Amino acid sequence: MKLSAEKLDLRLRHTFTIARSSSDWAQNVLVRLRDGKYEGLGEASPARYYGQTQASCLKTARAMSRIVKDASPFDLERVVDALERRFPKQPSARAAVDLALHDLLGQRAGLPLWKYWGLDPARTPQTSYTIGIDTLEKVRVKLAEAERFPVLKIKLGVPGDDEIVKEVRRLCPKKVLRVDANCGWTVAETIRKARLLEKLGVEFVEQPIPPGNNAALKRIKDRIGLPLLTDESSLVPADIPPLRGCVDGINIKLVKCGGLRRALQMIHAARACGLKIMIGCMIESSVLITAAAHLTPLVDYADLDGNILISNDPFRGVKLDKDARLLLPKGPGLGLSRR
Ligand SMILES: [Mg+2]
Repeated sequence: MKLSAEKLDLRLRHTFTIARSSSDWAQNVLVRLRDGKYEGLGEASPARYYGQTQASCLKTARAMSRIVKDASPFDLERVVDALERRFPKQPSARAAVDLALHDLLGQRAGLPLWKYWGLDPARTPQTSYTIGIDTLEKVRVKLAEAERFPVLKIKLGVPGDDEIVKEVRRLCPKKVLRVDANCGWTVAETIRKARLLEKLGVEFVEQPIPPGNNAALKRIKDRIGLPLLTDESSLVPADIPPLRGCVDGINIKLVKCGGLRRALQMIHAARACGLKIMIGCMIESSVLITAAAHLTPLVDYADLDGNILISNDPFRGVKLDKDARLLLPKGPGLGLSRR
């Protein structure tokens, strides 16, 4: 197979702010894997937080050419393992190649990935729509734009954030609200704020404190009245077993775990540990979002709105019904087409 990689610059509709960063563009990477008459697509969304950039992803993806050169899509397990050994710190670039391999497997079989895996497309959840941190005035504009979404994920984790969630609840009394603090709070703050979130009927709180302290997560879980989910604390399959009993659920992201193969491992590990599962995203085009969507018949919650937050998505794949439930594509592999 012949691998090529190119820049994929995605323009955000609004400046996107979370507890630790703010951006107008996502500088992603598109990977193409040529296998005879077939072409598999993959995408990397580099995370600066983990020391990745568009340049490092391009360089890594191109360096992966040698490993895939003499392989076929049916060598997926061996290739994914080899890439992980050779590039342990580059899960985003590995995810791009893992996606392209899965796209090719499905195309070779003539089946959409969900069907290849034997999953029920009627079991996909609704996706939430993310409201990034902003002034109350801007939050109101974003809420108006998010009118069609019955489930909202509110980014908190900065001073004064109580006012944001209170305002969202005031303006959206009926919607399901989820809160993501992106490591912005302490244990004491989380316990205090959870009382307000519970009173506002928030469904769950995601990653309130920084990763690396599962005992602190357990202290929070034992003291709050709403479910606690991790994101930054649950990056790879090995992170799951130690979280058993410390939290209620995990968020999985393809670019953090290394792709669909590792995400499947995380789903099975989390189920075995009695944890709820969300599948989430970064700012991504329909390539990564659609790949993640193929897994959603296996999960409880979806937060797959990265492609909706951008204005220049070059691809079409997963769609939404009128209630924002994910509609999986019927085409083979990832089922993507050019816009
Ligand atoms: Mg998160």
